[in-house]
Amino acid sequence: MGRPHALLLPLPAQGHVLPLMELAHRMVSHGFTITFINTHFNHARLLSAMPTLTYNTNPSINFISIPDGLQPGDDRNHVANLCKTLMTIMPLHLEEIIIKMMHKQPEQDKPTCLIADQAMAWAFNVAKKNGLRTAAFWPASAATFTSIRNVPKLIQDGIIHEHDGSAKTPGVIFRLSPEIPPMNVNHLFWNRQLDSESNKVIFHCINTNKESIKNIVEFVVCNSFYEAEKPEFDYLNTSKILPIGPLLSCQRFGKPAGLFWSADTTCKAWLDEQDVNSVIYVAFGSLATVDERQFQELALGLELTGRPFLWVVRPDFTGKAIINLLKGLEDRIGGRGMVVQWSPQQEVLAHPAVSCFMSHCGWNSTMEGVSNGVPFLCWPCFSDQHLNQTYICDVWKIGLKMNPDENNMITKEQIKDKVEELLDDGEMKNRALAMKEIAIKGIEKGGSSFENFNTFISAMQV
Ligand code: UDP
Repeated sequence: MGRPHALLLPLPAQGHVLPLMELAHRMVSHGFTITFINTHFNHARLLSAMPTLTYNTNPSINFISIPDGLQPGDDRNHVANLCKTLMTIMPLHLEEIIIKMMHKQPEQDKPTCLIADQAMAWAFNVAKKNGLRTAAFWPASAATFTSIRNVPKLIQDGIIHEHDGSAKTPGVIFRLSPEIPPMNVNHLFWNRQLDSESNKVIFHCINTNKESIKNIVEFVVCNSFYEAEKPEFDYLNTSKILPIGPLLSCQRFGKPAGLFWSADTTCKAWLDEQDVNSVIYVAFGSLATVDERQFQELALGLELTGRPFLWVVRPDFTGKAIINLLKGLEDRIGGRGMVVQWSPQQEVLAHPAVSCFMSHCGWNSTMEGVSNGVPFLCWPCFSDQHLNQTYICDVWKIGLKMNPDENNMITKEQIKDKVEELLDDGEMKNRALAMKEIAIKGIEKGGSSFENFNTFISAMQV
């Protein structure tokens, strides 16, 4: 018998590739060989972001790529377009690869299992057909997972429309169980994509994927931890769903593997010069954008706080005036603030100078802030981010919500006031630190995520 050999297939987006890559590294340390399957487009991005770093240096991880079915200039952030080709074009390429591997490789090198992002559930049929064991990777919260599981109930209870999952009565609050915190129908992630076509396509994918998740996969490994979402995991009530998070690469070797952009590490020296617990860290993940008016207001708000800040401004974060807007800000604030295009976020959040995290509440960012005991200023934009905000602010009580005004703007005055309110609240920081301790204990020997990971590994090894 050779080493177990897992094929890992992420949804081709930053927030999905990153945690799955971390899972790959963890599996290697338990004796697995990994073939990590990116799209051609993302493979090229990863190589250019990390030519010599951690992308391709572990000899037990082999990186290969397949087409995503889009043309070179197509917008890959357009969920509807991407999902359509992922479901129609990629299965053929995946099957071709699996068949080749099964036939050509020596017996002991053949793949033994496939772990694919739950959103790529078509892959489980391909794997099963070719005799591979399967597990799904769920890179978001158990709450979001629970909402998907309950689509039939939500339809039956008259909360959402059957044909497209949209709200029957916008803003309605419902409960899935007495223990699970209330949810707002507007926050269901399939209703919060960037355009209505993408809402419909995501809802369609959920319905299409449901059967293979239920009937084919042996496990769903989830980048959350039991103690963070106890009622949700209890409600799901199955040993098939295993919370193994937080999946943090910083914890293991200080540097995340799988970044699409090269991180500007000069910010670490800048952070070293700042007072402990003083810096506002501002980052909106890999996809969220704001319009130029809101961008300017955010810049003015950060200026108004009078505090040091580290702000991640991706080149595509706002409209074309970005350079001028930033120049104006830099002229006014000098060294008090630092702007980078992409940060080493996990290292930044672990730095003692950071006092709070102004975040779009993507699930990875949420887990990373939680694991470092950093309280949040929540600025959700789309997808599951509003639901994540509910957990951060209303359930765990480790953050404050930013509230758009009647013009849908978050004003500079509100930014200043919320920063003050958050940082004056010692209890908020204490709760964040207590949650950090629980999160870290969970991934250490004997912890809940540690044990779940071992269960998963032992099962997939045989
Ligand atoms: N990230 C980073 N540097 C940045 C901004 C983000 O390394 O400047 C990483 C962050 O640590 C997280 C991921 O990108 O792991 C973003 O995932 P998340 O789920 O938070 O948001 P998404 O990009 O999916 O909206």
